[in-house]
Amino acid sequence: MTAPDLPDIPPGSLLLLDSEDWYHPDEATFEIDRDVALIVAKVHTDSSSATSFSVWVTGHAPECTWPSSEYHPPCIQLRVRCEALRRIVGGQR
Ligand SMILES: [Zn+2]
Repeated sequence: MTAPDLPDIPPGSLLLLDSEDWYHPDEATFEIDRDVALIVAKVHTDSSSATSFSVWVTGHAPECTWPSSEYHPPCIQLRVRCEALRRIVGGQR
């Protein structure tokens, strides 16, 4: 397991991703090439699928009613480039 060195991104953080900041390995079933806003549920840095290039991020769309409604599994799952995560978190400070 090679966990990438990433800033801590707590659940509930809002990530605003440009179309080049993220991708989905299964493009056929996922609308790509657009900006994405998501409320972080988890940044999967502990997963064996995390690389120094990108990690799985799961979360919810801002328009989703979570967590005020009943809990449901994250409705968004995508690969986010580590570079983008560092840039976003760095820019907020
Ligand atoms: Zn949701």
